[in-house]
Amino acid sequence: MKIQNKIALLFTILSGGIILALSVMLYFFATESISESFFHRLEVRSDIVGHAALEENRSRTSIYYAIKEKHLGDLPFEKHRVIWDKDTLRIKTVQAQLPMPASFYTSIGLHRPVRFSKGDTSYVGLEIRHLGRMAVVISSAVDLFGQEEIDYLQKLLVVGFLISLALVFTSGKLFSGQIFKPVRQIIRNVNGISAHNLNQRLTVKDTNDDISNLAKTFNDMLDRLEITFEIQNNFVSNASHEFKTPLTVISGEAQLGLSAPELSEAARQSFTTIYKESERLEHLTNSMLSLAQTGFDGKKEQWTQLRIDELIIAVKEAVNKIMPSNQVEIDFNLLPEDEERLVVSGNEALLKAAFTNIVLNSCKYSDNKPVLISIRADRAHVIVDILDQGIGIPDREIAQIFVPFFRASNTGKYKGYGIGLPLAHNIIRMHKGSVNVESQVDKGTRFVTFLPVA
Ligand code: ADP
Repeated sequence: MKIQNKIALLFTILSGGIILALSVMLYFFATESISESFFHRLEVRSDIVGHAALEENRSRTSIYYAIKEKHLGDLPFEKHRVIWDKDTLRIKTVQAQLPMPASFYTSIGLHRPVRFSKGDTSYVGLEIRHLGRMAVVISSAVDLFGQEEIDYLQKLLVVGFLISLALVFTSGKLFSGQIFKPVRQIIRNVNGISAHNLNQRLTVKDTNDDISNLAKTFNDMLDRLEITFEIQNNFVSNASHEFKTPLTVISGEAQLGLSAPELSEAARQSFTTIYKESERLEHLTNSMLSLAQTGFDGKKEQWTQLRIDELIIAVKEAVNKIMPSNQVEIDFNLLPEDEERLVVSGNEALLKAAFTNIVLNSCKYSDNKPVLISIRADRAHVIVDILDQGIGIPDREIAQIFVPFFRASNTGKYKGYGIGLPLAHNIIRMHKGSVNVESQVDKGTRFVTFLPVA
């Protein structure tokens, strides 16, 4: 779950808990207060009825009822039962009709009303002493309005609770989304930084909060990474440079030795070996130099617009020089009609080196069997397809062939260093392209390269 959603959820649970507790409290107090006021109203009426019943003067009795009628009115289902002088028989009859326990009746008479409620009906028991006489009044009524009020309050609280939950969740999401905006921005920026643009930095706002500290920390780390990368890169470049001169001298001396007259066969053999091996080493150091340069955004300033079909023809010429007996063929049948779709923006020397490496591999690992290069284009890419009929690459090793110095297990009899393909791959990636490899052992290999159209 995203942190943004987690925060919104936590926020909702917390606020939901508080709102629920408040609603329950409100409901409880409202119910208590409504019931208290209803009991009080019933008690007042019970008191008047008791006094009226004990009044000997008839006209006074009617005054009591008139006051009750005029100023108080009847409660819904209001009923009064008057028991004179603790008439036990009458008490028993009333007891049989009403749901109160015996303790209700025994508590009456302690000069305070006794209350009881069952279902929606409220009961009060009151002892009245008037003009030297005593009577017990048991009154009951149903609080229809109070009940309605409570039902209404209940609905209001439930709806209010649900609406406030939805509001809290949405506002929590918006709120946390706003807070995490800079974090998402940092993630986007960091994703855009790779070995090729290690000089890029995150924008740090001058807010001195945790987020800007995080961006600063990232930038510091990138500074350190860039320095380390540069040191490593310079080391490889310098070492390759340093190797070049002695190697040229060695191969020159070997050639000189070979041209000496009256050379014994053994000496000729050894000069030839020295010459061949120094050539191979020279090729290796050149490749390492290029690999180091491509690993660090090298030669970006030498980029031009170039046509891939022309580039592939140049590649074929280069391959002809290195492996004269190759059988490379270029298929132009799939070329798009619009020549513009063959133009890519890039460094010609590097792209040529990349394709030459792939094609040379195809010739080498197929012992110069036919290699077919076809060029086509889709909406956004120029696609170069290089297909050979060679030894193939074992399935589980395909993923590693772009790793520097890796060589597949079936390459025993072929010479190589495992640098050509990583170099080609770096170059293609530098040009925002990609390479797909399909291969079957002893059947052949297909390299499909996609380069974005300029
Ligand atoms: P190498 O100098 O060994 O050819 P590369 O970097 O050019 O190094 O290639 C890496 C590995 O990828 C090779 O050792 C080989 O195992 C495999 N490979 C590359 N191209 C082909 C191909 N066309 N056919 C079969 N295997 C290939």
